[in-house]
Amino acid sequence: MAIGSTEMIIVMQESATSEEVDRILELLDSAGARGHVSTSDLVTVIGIAGERDVIAGLPLEAYPGVDKVLPILHPYKLVSREFRRSDTIITVGGTSLGGGHLALIAGPCAVESEEQLFEAASVVKEAGATMLRGGAFKPRTSPYAFQGLGVRGLEILAAAGQQTGLPVVTELMDPRDLEAVVEYADIIQIGARNMQNFQLLSAVGGVERPVLLKRGLAATVEELLMAAEYIVREGNDQVILCERGIRTFETATRNTLDISAVPILKQRSHLPVVVDPSHASGKVDLVEPLSLAAIAAGADGIMIETHPTPETALSDGAQSLDPAQFRAVAARVRDAAAWIGKSMG
Ligand code: PEP
Ligand code: MN
Repeated sequence: MAIGSTEMIIVMQESATSEEVDRILELLDSAGARGHVSTSDLVTVIGIAGERDVIAGLPLEAYPGVDKVLPILHPYKLVSREFRRSDTIITVGGTSLGGGHLALIAGPCAVESEEQLFEAASVVKEAGATMLRGGAFKPRTSPYAFQGLGVRGLEILAAAGQQTGLPVVTELMDPRDLEAVVEYADIIQIGARNMQNFQLLSAVGGVERPVLLKRGLAATVEELLMAAEYIVREGNDQVILCERGIRTFETATRNTLDISAVPILKQRSHLPVVVDPSHASGKVDLVEPLSLAAIAAGADGIMIETHPTPETALSDGAQSLDPAQFRAVAARVRDAAAWIGKSMG
């Protein structure tokens, strides 16, 4: 059986007869697919090769003698390791992420004012960050909470990026703001809440800007990769995957950092992986250990929230590092990069 072209496997019941197997082979034949039968002591297995969509439409499970039908290849294609063996490297403004380049993306949750952002930008630049983050359009759980400065925030962010020489990352929530975000941002962030906003994914798939795609709060690794597939399918293959913690029963942290998602994503996809320990934990003192864990697990970048005065932050102050805390974590991130054999940026 040519495993590479096999789309699905049918496991027959132990009691299945050879007539039942033959009926399935006839069905596959009539649908233009090929079945390869292999029989062991206990069960008969049929490997199916052919057009995935056609095979998926066949009522295989309804046939007598069938125990289960299992897909073989992952449903995503363009983002898969099989599709591209080598790591995708994202390069913006002279700095890279992926394939041996570790990015340190830092800045406040939200752009609040010129003063706040310029201060944050100079702190992160001086501490060795390779990119600047800051939200102008904020997805807030409460409609009464600060929603971001909108286009004014984008202008401030771009100006701070220019002044420090750092590429800027900012979130897009609405396709109607795409043009403005493309004008000011070097990397477009798609937030966790929008990971399955398929129109938004397709929209950013049509522009020439790298996309940082955050994992949804309740999304599986496969769903994250399918969301990335939406973007790449439109022609934009510059996608960065971001593990930012998922919802579990655990209440000790804001979310649960799924550290194993990092090596799994790296195995299954050629796309670079960034970890956001700030949203994953919601706690300042967990940012350093989780950053180090992420680098050890193979992350291509770390995204950290930091604020000149976290106590006055308009969003996510409790998880934002102050300048001294950020400098300390950035130094440890640099050490970890050297230890694992990656360059900063
Ligand atoms: C953020 O980066 O500030 C943010 C809103 O992240 P997430 O979408 O992961 O919650
Ligand atoms: Mn935030």
